[in-house]
Amino acid sequence: MLQKKVHIMTYGCQMNVSDSEKISTALRGAGYESSPTIDGADMVILNTCSIRAKAEEKIYGILFTMKGRLKKNPGLLIGVGGCVAQQEGERLLKKVPHLNFVFGTHNLHLLPEMVRQAEAGKRVAETSFIDDESRLDLFPMQSEGSGVTRFVTIMQGCDNFCSYCIVPYVRGREVSRRFSELLDDIRSAADSGVREVTLLGQNVNSYGSKGDDGSGFASLIRDVAEIDGIERIRFMTSHPKDISAPLIECYAEVRKLCSHIHLPVQSGSDRVLQMMNRGYTRAGYLEKVARLRAARPDILITSDIIVGFPGETEEEFSDSLSLIEEVGYVDTFSFIYSPRPETKAAALHDSIESREKHERLNRLLALQKSLTARIQSSMVGERLEILVEGKGRDDGQIFGRSSGSRIVNLQGSLDLVGTLQKPLIVKAMQNCLLGELT
Ligand code: SF4
Repeated sequence: MLQKKVHIMTYGCQMNVSDSEKISTALRGAGYESSPTIDGADMVILNTCSIRAKAEEKIYGILFTMKGRLKKNPGLLIGVGGCVAQQEGERLLKKVPHLNFVFGTHNLHLLPEMVRQAEAGKRVAETSFIDDESRLDLFPMQSEGSGVTRFVTIMQGCDNFCSYCIVPYVRGREVSRRFSELLDDIRSAADSGVREVTLLGQNVNSYGSKGDDGSGFASLIRDVAEIDGIERIRFMTSHPKDISAPLIECYAEVRKLCSHIHLPVQSGSDRVLQMMNRGYTRAGYLEKVARLRAARPDILITSDIIVGFPGETEEEFSDSLSLIEEVGYVDTFSFIYSPRPETKAAALHDSIESREKHERLNRLLALQKSLTARIQSSMVGERLEILVEGKGRDDGQIFGRSSGSRIVNLQGSLDLVGTLQKPLIVKAMQNCLLGELT
């Protein structure tokens, strides 16, 4: 019987959300059940992100504030996993004396044993990489959990080595899960009531391909669409250079594939894109956007943009602004560049002042805000099909997401959770839409 409680704190991307589910599953084997709060927990785990320097600093800040908790609860075990753990390893144990264990991104399967050692008073770190096929056997099945939506990891790692990105160093090389296992996993999720799956990976387009034309991912989408009960398919993240013709055809032919794509462009300037080692040009990116729109005219596109990459001129930054307008992103996630250890860009001279970077970021955010408002307002008066996911913002409200991944709040019964509805959109807010079932 489970008696001990673990509170898992997740930082960063959806991959980490998915990994936290796997951590929770692995810890059940060690006698721990998940707790939504840290109060009363016997163990706390920080599943971390190091994609930006700020995210990493935040983890150290949180770890040091945990000293206060240990005064009240001296038996509390503290563990760190994820990308910061992978990057720092034993250094974390040295820097944070009250930390009990550190596990890397490839070591989730070792957690029960590490926890046993920590319970016995040992301080342990395990961050070895497993970059061969055997890593596939370490993906726990993901057919647990509740809800109508499910993240399903289809691959891990990345072989792209964008010059600013730490992922290949902390997540390792690309490994894809086996096709048949994935389909079994999704079938069993559908049997348990899941209606929408999001296929996750650092670069989903190269799922199963390792260098061929990328049709492995398109085949996966088509096979998932055949599964009874699955109504919607999403995926993230996709590298623009690897968007293949078979994938674009899916947008034309597979009704269950949602009308949204997250297509991180990072910069609108060819020189900066080249320095970033992104493998496409602005024109090449726009050409893929045009083909996606030809295949699925109502597709909504979101993106990531880095502001203030070393040496980015004002003109090159303006290229990013003009690209945002030209594509008409419904949302962008933009960040000020921060050098990450081991990456090529970390060696570049960064001559842009911090004040200038912040000023550029604010201009970009203002532009995106107006664009988002314009696109969301254009939806007022339309009927959008949503999958109802749960309780909405206010009392009596439920919420769902449109195919284009817009959140819609509306008055309705929780009995509708898991069903597709077509509310009339009556109001657009900055972060969501308001709908009515009439
Ligand atoms: S594609 Fe580039 S940015 Fe994305 S995870 Fe791989 S190296 Fe990082």
